[in-house]
Amino acid sequence: MNIHEYQGKELLREYGVAVPNGQVAYSVEEAVEAAQSLGSNVTVVKAQIHAGGRGKAGGVKLAKTIDDVRTYADEILGKTLVTHQTGPEGKEVKRLWIEEGSDILNEYYVGIVVDRATSRITMMASEEGGTEIEEVAEKTPEKIFREVVDPVTGLMPYQARRLAFNINIPKELLKEAVKFMMGLYKVFEEKDCSIVEINPLVTTGDGKVMALDAKLNFDDNALYRQKDVYALRDLDEEDPKEIEASKYDLSYISLDGNIGCMVNGAGLAMSTMDIIKHYHGDPANFLDVGGGADAEKVTAAFKIILEDDHVEGIYVNIFGGIMKCDVIAEGVVAATKEVGLEIPLVVRLEGTNVELGKKILEESGLNITAADSMADGAQKIVSLVQA
Ligand code: ADP
Ligand code: MG
Repeated sequence: MNIHEYQGKELLREYGVAVPNGQVAYSVEEAVEAAQSLGSNVTVVKAQIHAGGRGKAGGVKLAKTIDDVRTYADEILGKTLVTHQTGPEGKEVKRLWIEEGSDILNEYYVGIVVDRATSRITMMASEEGGTEIEEVAEKTPEKIFREVVDPVTGLMPYQARRLAFNINIPKELLKEAVKFMMGLYKVFEEKDCSIVEINPLVTTGDGKVMALDAKLNFDDNALYRQKDVYALRDLDEEDPKEIEASKYDLSYISLDGNIGCMVNGAGLAMSTMDIIKHYHGDPANFLDVGGGADAEKVTAAFKIILEDDHVEGIYVNIFGGIMKCDVIAEGVVAATKEVGLEIPLVVRLEGTNVELGKKILEESGLNITAADSMADGAQKIVSLVQA
């Protein structure tokens, strides 16, 4: 799960990690009031969307007067921001964060991730703040420093000191930087984060080390014990189809293609997408209906797939293990009848009661193309969609 920058900053503040003062605003008036109560010389108007790269897209503006705040707030609120992280359709700005401007001396990068290679939490830091870390990794990888955290001890102060020293934080601010990094690690660990990224971390003219941006992601599997974090969820930022799918316990992720996929099991869903790609098709989604899919779930899954305007054909690839093929076939038939399918549908069934399942599909009188194997089905749906 993802949260907004301002929510991340409020969380950081609770952990003693320095962030600028600010207030959230849902309207131009609220933005103006926030700026007035902050009373800083320079006020920053920041679009709140679940994506980075806002600065370059015009979503972060420095205002020198209250009138500027009004102008920028009016300009950004309701605007659809297209950044390199939003995809071409962009994201509509519904909230602003009005923040004190900082007197920036230097911008740095600090991030915490779970490194799969070492199975450990790793803190990364770089002197090249403000730029995308992916770009730094590509062009000047020697400028990224890492500290692997021992799970028994947690991040040690000497590791934070070494990072701060390596990225050339000025000597007089080393202590502040260490405090910052230790606090950041504590948030990551206690809040079950999967990513914490501060880009930029800045040093300021008045001797502070602060987070000017905050990206916090959380492990969905831990949200049951992070109720306060879960309360920060903003459904406006999520794909409505994904929200609908989660109600039925379906794992659904929207993709850019035109072939809707309905599959049981994450592994089979992945390989189904691979094989569609192999035959030069493009999946419109990843959808795992799970082991216990019943007719109701299959119907819900169908509806969700069909809500996507890009879908021009559907490929159902189901292995009847715990679920029997005849039950699945009945579900497919019921769903097809209910939602009135007008696009090609290819079904490949394998497993328990497969013959009975195929018979049900054949006798349904519906326009369903049966496939004999996974590859056969993929080829069939790709050619039907292209036709
Ligand atoms: P994004 O990463 O989405 O572009 P950031 O929050 O990192 O958004 O802001 C982009 C840039 O705007 C920062 O690198 C920084 O230079 C500037 N900036 C952001 N917040 C402030 C602030 N409070 N004071 C001064 N400059 C800021
Ligand atoms: Mg940033």
